[in-house]
Amino acid sequence: MKQEFPLPTLTRSARGLLIEQVALGDVAARFGTPVYVYSRAALTDAFNTYQHALEGRQALVCCSVKANSNLGVLSVFAQLGAGFDIVSGGELARVLAAGGRAECVVFSGVGKSRAEMRQALEVGIRCFNVESASELERLNEVAAGMGKTAPVALRVNPNVDPKTHPYISTGLRSNKFGVAFGDALALYQRAAALPHLRVCGIDCHIGSQLLDPAPMVEAACRLLDLADRLAGEGIHLEHIDLGGGLGIRYRDEVPPTVGAYLAPLLELFEGRPEALFFEPGRSLTGNAGLLLTRIEYLKPGEEKNFAIVDAAMNDLIRPSLYDGWHAVVEVAARDVPKRTADVVGPICESGDFLARGRDLAVEEGDLLALLSAGAYGMSMSSNYNSRPRAAEVLVDGQAVHLVRTRETVESLYALEYPLLSSQL
Ligand SMILES: *Cc1c(COP(=O)(O)O)cnc(C)c1O
Repeated sequence: MKQEFPLPTLTRSARGLLIEQVALGDVAARFGTPVYVYSRAALTDAFNTYQHALEGRQALVCCSVKANSNLGVLSVFAQLGAGFDIVSGGELARVLAAGGRAECVVFSGVGKSRAEMRQALEVGIRCFNVESASELERLNEVAAGMGKTAPVALRVNPNVDPKTHPYISTGLRSNKFGVAFGDALALYQRAAALPHLRVCGIDCHIGSQLLDPAPMVEAACRLLDLADRLAGEGIHLEHIDLGGGLGIRYRDEVPPTVGAYLAPLLELFEGRPEALFFEPGRSLTGNAGLLLTRIEYLKPGEEKNFAIVDAAMNDLIRPSLYDGWHAVVEVAARDVPKRTADVVGPICESGDFLARGRDLAVEEGDLLALLSAGAYGMSMSSNYNSRPRAAEVLVDGQAVHLVRTRETVESLYALEYPLLSSQL
């Protein structure tokens, strides 16, 4: 039977919606709204499905920090033995603060600064996923200055179409990520010749919210071809990193299970010497979290009804940014007729909507849960309209841990200065 909610540990009860054994109504009463709520069991299960599918292989599952960078969430993964995929020095600092190990960190991104390179070399990360010829030269130079050797993989662009939203497609020739497939061999030869680089792997990441495993398999085949050609040149790789990208169910999508996604890849790697790395983000945290919000006003309109809630596009930008769809569920069952409404926030932008045309049986003051908000939710939030960012809590059985305090308004301008009267 298809489970009712995409968040596996969410259930209905006489106390309203429960996440694990905690009533969402209690979370709102205790921490206020809007609040992100994560389920430790769901995070753990998502990670363990990868680990189990990879059992007996040389493999490293590197959680993509940009999908959810909360220290509480990262600490759950660190404790499970995860690696991490970072895209900035800030994310590296978070991983270490959450108890993650530097030797299990891979560093992606097209714009690594010298300072970020130094920071990562200092703590000894596992691998730099290098995305251009200039970055290769810069990394060699920075490592030389520190008397170190930088472990590198090239992020190659396998030029396969992942058939996902153009904003989250990354493996095509036309976008900024990675190095062109045809340039890779020459760049590897250059990397092998640079004295402060140690070639250790190859990497790709073709896009996000992938629902069809075929492009992944195609990308993996191209990477393996290249690895074999490199071996012919005397360049032997320790690992092959296939990136992240596995999709999740938001609405009625039917993504492959982790097992079904990995099976053809594992078959390709049968008998090969390289370790296999993955960088999942959305498929680890997306359906382990929700955004809990309260209805401020119900505003009937001539053409449309609006449910104006206390969360907004600054809290969850996916609907405005790329038409992301999130299930909206009433927290308490109510005996009122359902009305069709757009769920919108208080921000002064027409694009400030969280969901459109939903049938909701609600009254003012009721709580709504926006599901599948554990990835690219809080991590993409902002303070637009001087809105303090939401609190975050991690539920574990009956326990509720506050993992981020709600911001105060004062903290929003604590780093700013009005001009002094003498300067005005
Ligand atoms: C964003 C990103 C990921 C994670 O992607 P998901 O679709 O969330 O799994 C992995 N690797 C890189 C390089 C990324 O930029």
